[in-house]
Order: sequence, then C-alpha cells, then structure tokens
Amino acid sequence: MIDGTRLVILGRQGAGKGTQCVRLSRHYVIPHISTGDMLRSAVKEGTEFGLKAKAIMDGGDLVSDDIMGGVVRERLDRDDTRGRGYILDGFPRTVGQAEILHEITVDDPLNLVIDLVVPTEVVLERLAARRVCTDCGANYSIDAPPKYGWVCDNCGGEVVQRADDTPEAIQKRLDLYERETAPLIAWYEERKLLAEVDGLGAADEVTNRMVAAIDARR
Ligand code: AMP
Repeated sequence: MIDGTRLVILGRQGAGKGTQCVRLSRHYVIPHISTGDMLRSAVKEGTEFGLKAKAIMDGGDLVSDDIMGGVVRERLDRDDTRGRGYILDGFPRTVGQAEILHEITVDDPLNLVIDLVVPTEVVLERLAARRVCTDCGANYSIDAPPKYGWVCDNCGGEVVQRADDTPEAIQKRLDLYERETAPLIAWYEERKLLAEVDGLGAADEVTNRMVAAIDARR
C-alpha cells in the first residue's frame, strides 16, 4: 500500500463497524465514508432525494444500486480520497454494488476488504442498545452513554435511538444482509482481497486486530 490505504469494511449491523471505521480513519488519517451517514444527512437536509431515502431506510430496505453507485462515485471523485485513501463503511452492500465499485476503482484498486465477524446474539443485543448522535453520527449505547444526559460528547448534538432500529426493521436488515451482502464475502475472497477479523472484545483490541490485518498487506 505504497500509494494509499483503500479499505472496505463489511459486517452485519451492530458488528461495531461504525466505531471501528472512525478509529481506523484517525489511525491512517483517511476519510471515513459511510453511505448510511450520507443518506441520513440528505434526509436531514430535506432534499427530494432525502425524502425518498427516508422511506426506504425507515422500512429497513436498500436504496437501489444505481443510486448508491452514483453517490459513491461522486464522493470518491473528491480530492481527499486521492492520495492517502479512504474507508468505505456500508458500501458495497450487494454484488451489484461491488461490481460498480470495481469499475469506479479500476485505476486505484482496493487494498483490503475486512469482514468484522460478530455472532448473531451479540449483534441483536448491541442493536437494541444502540444510540446515535443526530448531528455527527457518533455511536453510543445504553451501557456506554454520553457523559451528560443524551448530549453527544463530540459535538453537543442530541443522542437518540435510530428510527430504523425497531425490532422489525432490525430483523429485516439482518435478513437482507444474509441475502444481499453476505455473498460479498465469497466475492472478495475469490479476488484475494478479504480478511476476516474477530469483532468481539474491547474496542481497542478489535482496532488492533484490524490494524494488524491492514498492515500485513503493506
Ligand atoms: P447504515 O447506517 O449503514 O446501517 O445504513 C442505514 C440505511 O441506509 C440502510 O438500512 C439502507 O436503507 C441505507 N443504505 C446505506 N448504505 C446503503 C447501500 N450501500 N445500499 C443501499 N442502501 C444503503
């Protein structure tokens, strides 16, 4: 990885992807590109696209590959991803999206795809307890809340349960993951890009494992 660190982080909802991506982004000084965060800001801005995305997200469905491909293409065109690289979180989520990403990155291919592995029982517990900042997207939980009330430690934003963290929407997203996203593991394995990392344990331990997997590719 002489010329950049271009990463994709896969893992089921609640595997701790968001938290780990923020940590890796600080460690390697590269942008953390979360398609979920990008969609949530469009919702907040109230754009026409945001309104359509909100209905899809609240129901636990996926935004179409074409639309997501366009959003990511535009984002990866920006200068901050060119030199040092980037971390993609939440994209690709389907084989169709992986094919689009392959096209987008044909000149500067991905270095590594990490699958963050956490058992289903743990994922369900974590999702039920998850709380997020409505402004910066920082993740908290009922067991690890912000220091003062439900006010974000980073930016002072309001910390709430995500509208799509209802039991029905969670189950739907987990089913969708098995059907649409899990096949990406074999897809990337065939392309010799995959590393599996155990997502259980303290956040520091998990970060260290991920850094070791990434640095082993250098
Ligand atoms: P996340 O924050 O990654 O869990 O994303 C929240 C929601 O945004 C998902 O449940 C989807 O509805 C939508 N979304 C985010 N990324 C994608 C993607 N790559 N493809 C389709 N839908 C997405």
